[in-house]
Amino acid sequence: MIHRARLSYSGFIEVICGSMFSGKTEELLRRIRRAQIARQKVQLFKPVTDNRYSTQHVQSHDANRLPSLSVEKPKDLLKQIDDHTRVVGIDEAQFFDDSIVEVAQKLAARGIQVIVAGLDMDFKGRPFGPMPKLLAIAEDVTKLSAVCVICGNAASRTQRITGSKTDQITVGAKDFYEARCRACHDPGMETVAPSQENPVKLLRFALEWQPCTPKVFSKDLLSIQKDRSFP
Ligand SMILES: [Zn+2]
Repeated sequence: MIHRARLSYSGFIEVICGSMFSGKTEELLRRIRRAQIARQKVQLFKPVTDNRYSTQHVQSHDANRLPSLSVEKPKDLLKQIDDHTRVVGIDEAQFFDDSIVEVAQKLAARGIQVIVAGLDMDFKGRPFGPMPKLLAIAEDVTKLSAVCVICGNAASRTQRITGSKTDQITVGAKDFYEARCRACHDPGMETVAPSQENPVKLLRFALEWQPCTPKVFSKDLLSIQKDRSFP
């Protein structure tokens, strides 16, 4: 109870992290809605990089959403804070530069509850952007897990299944990524579909991976079987 009383009279930082599809944005929106029910003024922000669903909302993969402001740099976020704001939510924080850490500190020093959600690791399993520092300074950390699409265990990693092998940022969701556990995660992205120019390799790949990605390969697989009379 002492802990609750202290939190209600001073600012603090909460971080919600985990892999993609672990429900980070859902959890952020749940906490923001609780603050709204308590009649606290809330403001929600996200980086302009995140344009997956909407530029004016924070939206989870299952279409749950609340209005938000898109900002390019963390300092732009500070300029938008209303005097009466009690709770600030920041989604996809991994896309901001390190100055988001100082901004979060400043907001907490003003007595604001700062709720930050973001990917703790990129698709190679490396700490992502400013997230390690945010985790270090936070009063409260929630690490969520998804479900590994290969083995069904708790997934802590994000597997990139298409796109660039080197770029840390490819904004997207189910078309480019899936959740994997440590054992099934492949940071070298060897599971990327081979080129269509090599149908035998594609067929072998499809047979190996069909249980987890049937929609991607079923059409190609059928056309190869027809053309080449594979058994
Ligand atoms: Zn697994």
